[in-house]
Amino acid sequence: MIEWTSEQKLLQRTVHDFAQKELLPKAAEIDEKETWNESAFRKMADLGLLGITVSEEFGGIHLGATEATLVMETLGHACASTTLSYLAHSILTVNNLFVNASAEQKRKYLPKLISGEWIGAMAMTEPGAGSDALGMTTKAEKKGTKYLLNGSKTYITNGSYADVLIVYARTGQNKKDISTFIVEKNFPGFRVSKKLQKMGMKGSPTAELSFDNCEVPEENLIGAGNDSVAHMMNNLNMERITISGISLGIAQACLDYSTRYAGERTQFGTPLSQFQMIQERLAEMATQLAAGRALVYSASRAFDKGQRPMSLGAQCKLFTAKMATQAGLDAIQILGGYGYMREYPVERMMRDAKLMEIGAGTNEVMRLIIARELYK
Ligand SMILES: Cc1cc2nc3c(=O)[nH]c(=O)nc-3n(C[C@H](O)[C@H](O)[C@H](O)COP(=O)(O)OP(=O)(O)OC[C@H]3O[C@@H](n4cnc5c(N)ncnc54)[C@H](O)[C@@H]3O)c2cc1C
Repeated sequence: MIEWTSEQKLLQRTVHDFAQKELLPKAAEIDEKETWNESAFRKMADLGLLGITVSEEFGGIHLGATEATLVMETLGHACASTTLSYLAHSILTVNNLFVNASAEQKRKYLPKLISGEWIGAMAMTEPGAGSDALGMTTKAEKKGTKYLLNGSKTYITNGSYADVLIVYARTGQNKKDISTFIVEKNFPGFRVSKKLQKMGMKGSPTAELSFDNCEVPEENLIGAGNDSVAHMMNNLNMERITISGISLGIAQACLDYSTRYAGERTQFGTPLSQFQMIQERLAEMATQLAAGRALVYSASRAFDKGQRPMSLGAQCKLFTAKMATQAGLDAIQILGGYGYMREYPVERMMRDAKLMEIGAGTNEVMRLIIARELYK
């Protein structure tokens, strides 16, 4: 069992109550309509969630990866889509700025992102560079006091409505000459080129973005230039730990729903829960979930203590992503025909869970990272 502090328990209870009231009732609707739960998203600011890892000076509540993951799990249990958008905002954008931006950049961007006035997104992936992120071809060239960005980014969570985007671009000849820029949606040359349709996570809009001589003032370069690979990797580690919370939340929702259903549904004059093959499936789900939770929260605590091996996030994400997809498939099987129907939520949970095996690095890439560290 994981031991939580009284503050962590209070955080979990508060977020749970919020999620039940604001996220759960809209989860099916935003999936169906492929839109996002904007009102709930902005209300998260009132709980301090939009700047969960940021110091009070910039409007945040300064908690660690453990609390951020606990929030992801609790929100993800109610609505995985909204939680994915929340992750792109609070971790990929806000935490990224807090860790890497200058004091002036933080003062300019963080308060509005944390109050919910602005929405954030992070753009690394390109049509030709996904797993091989360092193969990106979007270029930034210095012209006077501006950088001109040219290229395109794809699969960007929140991309279609973000006010502020963290964009990675190539600034030199070497593979690792990558720099980070803060782009505002109104900068000339920036355009949302396509809203993408997906299999799952439909309540978390995803977009393709285009940069055509996009003008970015030089003061919006984060860092010294050509130095972004290290902080990109560190952000990915944090992202992979916290996104694992969403997988835990989905798997718990699948287990809760199928346990209840199996207790109520009768066949052959007996509740499904009395059939040993159903019990086996439920017992396996519960055990995998407990193992995933133990792994994720021990990794988040290690991260909070300053440990940074890339396998920390990779192991969490690999284990929990596979586990969540399996929990979705198991829940569908336990519900039988009803599980396959759109009016029941478990098929949505399974579609949402599958993204966990792809976004923030695929299962295969997680295995590469883990194996690479074994040979270090
Ligand atoms: C819904 C959604 C939201 C996303 N949000 C964001 C976002 O906000 N910002 C952002 O920048 N990106 C985002 N992404 C992009 C995501 O991180 C990439 O999709 C992911 O890294 C995989 O890249 P790819 O899709 O190009 O697949 P590819 O790299 O083309 O991989 C295709 C297949 O080949 C396998 N493969 C690739 N290389 C190897 C290898 N060396 N060894 C073995 N197998 C390999 C992969 O595992 C995969 O199975 C999002 C993606 C999705 C689907």
